[in-house]
Amino acid sequence: MKVLVPVKRVVDYNVKVRVKPDQSGVDLANVKMSMNPFDEIAVEEAVRLKEAGTVEEIVVVSIGPEKAQDQIRQALAMGADRGLLITAEGEVESLAVAKLLKAVCEEEKPDVVLLGKQAIDDDRNQTGQMLAALMGWSQGTFASKVEKDGDKLHVTREVDGGLQTIALSLPAVVTTDLRLNEPRYASLPNIMKAKKKPLDKKAASEFGVDLTPRLETLKVTEPPKREAGIKVESVEELVDKLKNEAGVL
Ligand code: AMP
Repeated sequence: MKVLVPVKRVVDYNVKVRVKPDQSGVDLANVKMSMNPFDEIAVEEAVRLKEAGTVEEIVVVSIGPEKAQDQIRQALAMGADRGLLITAEGEVESLAVAKLLKAVCEEEKPDVVLLGKQAIDDDRNQTGQMLAALMGWSQGTFASKVEKDGDKLHVTREVDGGLQTIALSLPAVVTTDLRLNEPRYASLPNIMKAKKKPLDKKAASEFGVDLTPRLETLKVTEPPKREAGIKVESVEELVDKLKNEAGVL
């Protein structure tokens, strides 16, 4: 099988994000950026499938600024075979990302597109679903296990009340959940080798996809500050406070 893994450059999950004073968005100046954690899981799964002999080639694609090369190189160091950077400045909305990925799918003809279930910057959780719809392909979202079985791909996913396993016909779109695996760290020799792996670059404008935003962000605000907790002496006092102060009983 050939696998396409889209990876997004996002604010590192350890960074405490700051909202810009004009509330237009999050301040990205001098902030550490990394590969979206769910995409690292997708890369890891693709590499494991390759190690198991199920996958022959892993292509990684990122849509974003020039610097998104760093995230592609990381994926190459983890074991992907080649990369494609689609350069676009500013925000590219999910539908435009999905349309660009559709164009890549038409050219690369992967058997599986393995994406993160969501990007941790905007928490949209929709790119994989949109791509599956645009391509008319089967989809398995929030995968916690992926196995090839004959000409089907078995995807186990957590649903209310348990685990559901579905058999997808290929080509298919699969999105990864946290439980799927624990991504490896790239070793230094693999980081060096990754510098020699092929990385193509194309401008998003070459694809004839309309990148004009359809959504307008009205404002971005910090969550309310958490108030300090208090200790109560007795159950009666707790019940009294819940009733008369918090008003939740
Ligand atoms: P989202 O729907 O934005 O939460 O993103 C879900 C997944 O789509 C991410 O985990 C990535 O695998 C992929 N994705 C979203 N945006 C991009 C992008 N700009 N470049 C590459 N992949 C992306």
